[in-house]
Amino acid sequence: MTHRAGRHFLQIPGPTTVPDRVLRAIDMPVIDHRGPEFGRLGLEVLEGLQRVFQTRQPVVIYPASGTGAWEAALVNTLSPGDQVLMFETGHFATLWQKMATRLGLQTEFIPTDWRRGADAGVLEARLRDDKARAIRAVCVVHNETSTGVTSRIPLIRKAIDAAGHPALLLVDTISSLGSIDYRHDEWGVDVTVAGSQKGLMLPPGLSFNAPSEKARAASKQAKLARSYWSWDEMLAANKSGYFPYTPATNLLYGLREALAMLQEEGLPNVFARHERHAEATRRAVRAWGLEILCAVPEEYSSSLTAIMVPAGHDADHLRKVVLEACDMSLGTGLGKVAGKVFRIGHLGDFNDLTLVGTLAGVEMGLALAGIPHQAGGVNAAMQFLTERHQTRARAAA
Ligand SMILES: *Cc1c(COP(=O)(O)O)cnc(C)c1O
Repeated sequence: MTHRAGRHFLQIPGPTTVPDRVLRAIDMPVIDHRGPEFGRLGLEVLEGLQRVFQTRQPVVIYPASGTGAWEAALVNTLSPGDQVLMFETGHFATLWQKMATRLGLQTEFIPTDWRRGADAGVLEARLRDDKARAIRAVCVVHNETSTGVTSRIPLIRKAIDAAGHPALLLVDTISSLGSIDYRHDEWGVDVTVAGSQKGLMLPPGLSFNAPSEKARAASKQAKLARSYWSWDEMLAANKSGYFPYTPATNLLYGLREALAMLQEEGLPNVFARHERHAEATRRAVRAWGLEILCAVPEEYSSSLTAIMVPAGHDADHLRKVVLEACDMSLGTGLGKVAGKVFRIGHLGDFNDLTLVGTLAGVEMGLALAGIPHQAGGVNAAMQFLTERHQTRARAAA
């Protein structure tokens, strides 16, 4: 191993770089999870999470990766053989669909070309067709991390309502919560699924469910086998800040700190920062003459950008070159777009210079890997960021 000076750039779209403040908060003695100090911590993080989910409903915390919270959302609300409608927006939607099938659900998987989000028009037509109201749930990945496409959940909600259909709406926000505006209550979502290691700036290991009242009512009838994931015991224990089994105490210390950071910056500012960095990234991509995978501008993701390399070139070779030359990790192409795209994560604890450094590493990598492109992407991004600062300064004057 050669010595590497300076910090590694972890620019994959999750896990993201954990801020020093959060790392220091985690570096504390473990406490008795049945003791009084823990109860206060539990109540504090459970309440803080409601603000981030923009909900008055309780939020459930699991010591698990996001995949566990996917499972929790399904097994708490559905019964064997239930029909579930899902959209193949990319790799993560595909994994969720596989899980649903394995759990004994009948999934209908609406295809896309992996360059756009869930289509509300298609959804409405399909639900209107379902005269028997057999479809029990609609599952959508809010921000598809494999493609950099953000589905418009308010339109999905409208489509379900327009069809007058009673299906539950389950939404994966693992790579959007805390980065892209998301409103559990206002958008009428029944179960929101989230994870710790992306916008929430924590290490991997925690995941979340936010169930609506309707989802909790459905859980009373749901017959899929569940034990570890059961909301009932969890919600009962959570009332006093405790958990039915040993929680990930130190990650909860980190969560308390991360929630404080989001609160200090203010969620609207957090979202605006992510939008700004995403737009700067797209300016760089266009200046390089490369193509953004997301084909619908209204669905551009603010937490990551997936970029296509020209035919005949290997995106993973570029990633390897960038890692070796610049000590930076970029996201790999997943599933159908393996080798064809690389992904720049610009979410979490991230500022202008992190972005400029990241884009500089990509631009050097493009040259080193011999990928046809024009120089000047970093400049285009810097120009945009500078203009934004000037606009803000003028508005404040
Ligand atoms: C990361 C991610 C997942 C998987 O989460 P794990 O924590 O790896 O289990 C699922 N969905 C989306 C949208 C993701 O970004």
